[in-house]
Amino acid sequence: MQRRPRRVRGRGHDEFWAFCEAGELRMQRCKDCGHVQWPPVPDACERCELAVLEWERLSGTGQIVSWCTFERSYYPDLPVPWDTILVELEEGPLFISNPDGFTNEEVRINMPVRVTFVDCEDETGRFRLPAFEPVGPTGPKNQKGAQDETASTA
Ligand SMILES: [Zn+2]
Repeated sequence: MQRRPRRVRGRGHDEFWAFCEAGELRMQRCKDCGHVQWPPVPDACERCELAVLEWERLSGTGQIVSWCTFERSYYPDLPVPWDTILVELEEGPLFISNPDGFTNEEVRINMPVRVTFVDCEDETGRFRLPAFEPVGPTGPKNQKGAQDETASTA
């Protein structure tokens, strides 16, 4: 169980966390223009302003388009260095998250990832936080292993 800073709650957000609890990554898609909202909105589509939103289950896959490691502590509950990644989800939204099972030293641009759910708790209780793991056998660990092998035989 990982301790985390307090998550955002409220209309839209509460529904998002409830779906995460069920192991589902869902976002609101506008039934009119198709836009996927992130972060959640309380009422209407942020693009066309119509209130015809539907919680769609996403594929949970995407690619890492940027990353950042915090060397300075901003939250007592997050030990540094603290890795964050920016995932472009298959359905379009950009999602700030954390690597699960790898570190930012192993990240490469456009690395394919898929969602996982990490058991966490904040001051309001326990919850499941979306994070991302590498997809497929060409993950960063294998690549790093290959590099190390090359180095040791050189
Ligand atoms: Zn819309």
